[in-house]
Amino acid sequence: MKRKVSENVLPYGRQSIADEDIESVVEALRSDWLTTGPKVDEFERAISEVAGGSQAVAVTSGTAALHVAYVAAGIKPGDEVVTTPMTFVATASTAAIAGAKIVFADVEESTGNLSLEAARAAVTDRTKVITAVDYAGLPVDAVAFRDLAHENGALFIEDAAHSVGSLLNGVPVGKEADFTTFSFFPTKNMTTAEGGAVVTPSDELALRARRFKGQGLIREQSELRYPDEGPWHQEVHDFSLNYRLPDVLCALGISQITRLGEFRTRRQWIHDQYNAAFGPHEALKIPGTTPGAEPAWHLYPLRVEAARRRQIFEELRARGIGVQVNYIPAYWHPVFEDLGYQRGMCPVAEQYYREEISLPLFPGLKDDQVEMVIENVLDVVGS
Ligand SMILES: *Cc1c(COP(=O)(O)O)cnc(C)c1O
Repeated sequence: MKRKVSENVLPYGRQSIADEDIESVVEALRSDWLTTGPKVDEFERAISEVAGGSQAVAVTSGTAALHVAYVAAGIKPGDEVVTTPMTFVATASTAAIAGAKIVFADVEESTGNLSLEAARAAVTDRTKVITAVDYAGLPVDAVAFRDLAHENGALFIEDAAHSVGSLLNGVPVGKEADFTTFSFFPTKNMTTAEGGAVVTPSDELALRARRFKGQGLIREQSELRYPDEGPWHQEVHDFSLNYRLPDVLCALGISQITRLGEFRTRRQWIHDQYNAAFGPHEALKIPGTTPGAEPAWHLYPLRVEAARRRQIFEELRARGIGVQVNYIPAYWHPVFEDLGYQRGMCPVAEQYYREEISLPLFPGLKDDQVEMVIENVLDVVGS
């Protein structure tokens, strides 16, 4: 049996915190602002820069970002949202909370990304939003999905929880979709502990997003229904939530985002090592990519023989390699099952799930740890 990678289980993903990140947070803690202060604006400008100049609205999580995007898109009970099952359940559940009926469409076999053709076939005259996910960090063709949505009077949301810092044909993720949502959870490409952002090229959509995340409060004199009430006056015109990301966490984000390029390079290097080691192996499938993509890889989804997935997974865990499975098809969750969603609906996604194991992938993974993950995977899989 091969040597263990470490005494503790090596995680599949983890944050990379440098002294400069810590200093940035400490500075914010010593300032006058803990919640909504100058760091929020500064972080939003930095997000905007990596997202191709679109407006950014910082929020408390990737889940909050999706909820804000669906509400700002005007989702009402009875509207349909076409999306992928190969995702964390929040992509669908936040739309369901806004009242939408979720319509799942299947994915591409090689990348795990929502199939444009499957999405097209799922669109009806009730479709209000199409939501794709940049699975593992690989950007979908946002222009094609946006065009499909707009042709049908719908909006396109890109759940880019995995792909902060990715590009397609030189265009950063965040530039093309009506809404792009980011997550800054610690395992993701950069972190604010909990955190996320909604990004949009539209001033009107950005304003709606900003209002919903800020309890719906309106202070602009020109928009008040009762402008003469007094200087203290503010109004709420729509029921809303508090999803504000505090200054202290934005300070971490401001520092992290300067390291995004370095993170992407390291993630790509590890991805390349895994591809080189597993590509030639007959019993393994490496993740597909797209011409023109420069992904900030969040996951390394290796596929093994479905019948052996569980055994390989358990053996790797026993050897201290913190593998994960991303994802159980969203509609297999009992909450969807109880609504009548049946297995077999998206067979490509289901097969992908049956074969998938995510290997450790994060910037702090050392060269020798990468080597040991490779040796152990090859050893467990056998020849
Ligand atoms: C992580 C993730 C989310 C949710 O982000 P949180 O910050 O954890 O709320 C949404 N969608 C996808 C695809 C994710 O991976």
